[in-house]
Amino acid sequence: DLHLKRVELKGFKSFASKITMDLETGVTGVVGPNGSGKSNISDGIKWVLGEQSAKTLRGAKMEDVIFSGTEKQKPLGMAEVSLVLDNEDGGIPIDFSEVKVTRRAYRSGENEYLINQSPCRLKDVRELFMDTGIGKDGYSIVGQGKIDEILSHKAEDRRKVIEEAVGIVKYKSRKEEAQRK
Ligand code: ATP
Ligand code: MG
Repeated sequence: DLHLKRVELKGFKSFASKITMDLETGVTGVVGPNGSGKSNISDGIKWVLGEQSAKTLRGAKMEDVIFSGTEKQKPLGMAEVSLVLDNEDGGIPIDFSEVKVTRRAYRSGENEYLINQSPCRLKDVRELFMDTGIGKDGYSIVGQGKIDEILSHKAEDRRKVIEEAVGIVKYKSRKEEAQRK
């Protein structure tokens, strides 16, 4: 079924040169010393999924996701993260067996989103992920405190979590959009 095959980060936070992380099916553990960049990887995944809050990404401003340099290395001008998804079973309604979603950001504040190398809108990325459960607010990224949040939230919010899980959010948001027009 649908699974994340690869994460690529370049110029994102502590990853100055390009790193590629290949993932098998099942559970992947990331281990390393404090400050080695483990959390930066999950920040990178949230970022591609469209995260717009610098604070959620543990920064003060959005530019903080771009590699800011070290004693030996100059700062970079662009951050890029890609997620490569296995789409052999066509879970994503796109005619490719592999789907690569990329986000780029420049110091100017400009952002670019690409699906299989073609420029697209953030909205397209959101729609693509909405019903896969991979969305940035989806249940697949369970941040610290999220469990408590789900348990203590209003019935309405719990319902949203369940609706995304069963895959009807996309239709609801399209319906709402149509009603606004
Ligand atoms: P811990 O085990 O303490 O949770 P971790 O492996 O999760 O550590 P991260 O929080 O992912 O570590 O990485 C923190 C490191 O990333 C810090 O050294 C910080 O300076 C570096 N870092 C964050 N943003 C940038 C940036 N824009 N440019 C360069 N380095 C950065
Ligand atoms: Mg950490």
